[in-house]
Amino acid sequence: MGEIKVARKKGWKELPEGDYLEPGSAAVFETGDWRSERPVWIPENCIQCLFCWVYCPDSSVKVKDSLMTGFDYKHCKGCGICVTECPGKKGNKAIKMEAEKK
Ligand code: SF4
Ligand code: SF4
Repeated sequence: MGEIKVARKKGWKELPEGDYLEPGSAAVFETGDWRSERPVWIPENCIQCLFCWVYCPDSSVKVKDSLMTGFDYKHCKGCGICVTECPGKKGNKAIKMEAEKK
């Protein structure tokens, strides 16, 4: 039987340098482009608990004078966590998800 030759793998010092992104890039890039669904606020059901603001992983719930005022659609990725956490008023949620129109 012939000898089987195994290609030698490169060591880590021989590999080309990779690339990286500067920290804080989400503030620069409009990550809202990734969204397939968008949260829509229903003010009449909102009790201003700000759970949506606390739980949003992208800081995309807009708050002014301690009141929820809507969403930053340039950065909201449409994950739906705000809808899940929103207690709403008397069981009626103050946020619903709608299909993104692109
Ligand atoms: S859908 Fe996700 S990213 Fe957008 S506001 Fe709600 S929690 Fe934040
Ligand atoms: S979680 Fe719901 S009820 Fe609470 S502030 Fe946000 S939208 Fe309003």
